[in-house]
Formats: sequence, C-alpha cells, structure tokens
Amino acid sequence: MVAPPSAAAAGQAPPPAPSICVFCGSRTGAGAADADAARRVGQWIGTHGWRLVYGGGRAGLMGLVADAALAAGAAVVGVIPQSLMTRELGHQGLTELHVVQTMHERKRLMAGRSDAFLALPGGLGTLEELFEVWTWRQLGYHDKPVGLLNTGGYYDALLAFVAHAATAGYVQPAQRALLQVEREPEPLLQRLAALAPLAVAPDDYSRT
Ligand code: AMP
Repeated sequence: MVAPPSAAAAGQAPPPAPSICVFCGSRTGAGAADADAARRVGQWIGTHGWRLVYGGGRAGLMGLVADAALAAGAAVVGVIPQSLMTRELGHQGLTELHVVQTMHERKRLMAGRSDAFLALPGGLGTLEELFEVWTWRQLGYHDKPVGLLNTGGYYDALLAFVAHAATAGYVQPAQRALLQVEREPEPLLQRLAALAPLAVAPDDYSRT
C-alpha cells in the first residue's frame, strides 16, 4: 500500500498538536509511585508532540507533570484563578499562563483547549474535575475521551463504588464504559490518543 503524502509534502500546514487536559493533585501524595507516573505522563506528552493543558501551578503532581512535559519539549498551557496564584504556586515557565478570575473560567478554558482529559491521583479538586468531564461526556456536552490513571490501585475503591452504583441501578454500564482506566500511563495515553476526536495519523504518534 502506498502511504499518503504528509501534510508538509503536500504543501499544507501541519495539523495542530493535539492537547490533553491533565487533572491531578496539588499535593504529591504519600508514595513515590504517583510522582513517577506524573513525570511519565509529562514525558509522553512531550515526546509524542502533544500539548499539555493543566491548572497552571507548580504545586504537587501538577508541577511534576508540567515540568516533565516542558523538559520533553511540549507546549504547556496553564490556567489558574488569580486567587490561587500563591497557594498553587503559579508556574512562570510555561508556554502560556492564563490567570483568570474564577474557577468557572478556568474550567471552561481548560476544557475548550483540550482534545482529551486525563485524571491522575489527586484529592477533592481532582475528583470534581474528573466527574464533571465524565458526566458531561455522558450527557453529550462533549465527545472527548476521558481517562483515569489508577496508579497502584489508588482509585480501586472509587471504581468499586461506581460498580456498586451500577448494581444498584443508578449507573448504566455504557456510562461506566466512557471512562478509560489503566494502571500505567503509556497504554492509557495511547488509548486516549486513539479515541481523541481530532484525528491523529498513526505515524504522528509513533515517534518514541
Ligand atoms: P486537589 O486534587 O484537591 O489537590 O486539587 C487539584 C486541582 O483541582 C487544584 O488545581 C485545585 O485548584 C482544583 N480544584 C479544586 N476545587 C475545584 C473545583 N471545584 N473545580 C475545579 N477545580 C478545582
């Protein structure tokens, strides 16, 4: 089979780099495994030519993902409310840092700039962000893939509760199936890449 000409060879502008929105803890958690996974996510994003969209801070896993993505050559877009600039250590080394007035502005800008969503281990803020994009997908407000990185089984209890909610008749199996879950970053990121609505030619993300 003859490969189609690349965009560059055909004289067209290359497609924009896909963007992935990462939600994760503003703390690093108790074990080293989550920090390692966060760095691997950032590294994957950079080495695959993706763009990172995240909450804009240097605190916790958020800062680790951003720094690893920057070190691997990714463009990184941060979105942070003015009121959290001190508490979450607004990152001054990003490609773009948007300082907004409200949490709602932050979430709207992050979602609008992204082709896929990924939640890493985190606390209440991460859970809220995950459930919002998951439920919005369920309601048809967007069609972007949503992933959950279950590092070391951190989210096992949450997933068990969702299974319980399905047994109890409140969650449909199809709704649960909208969430892509893996324990390791790379297979999860590959799944999200394959599902992202912005079509990415396979040779565009086979550069590692
Ligand atoms: P946490 O998982 O609690 O460490 O928080 C992770 C990120 O979620 C931080 O950047 C928080 O500012 C953010 N966050 C906290 N509450 C909310 C919320 N209600 N909506 C969106 N993001 C939030």
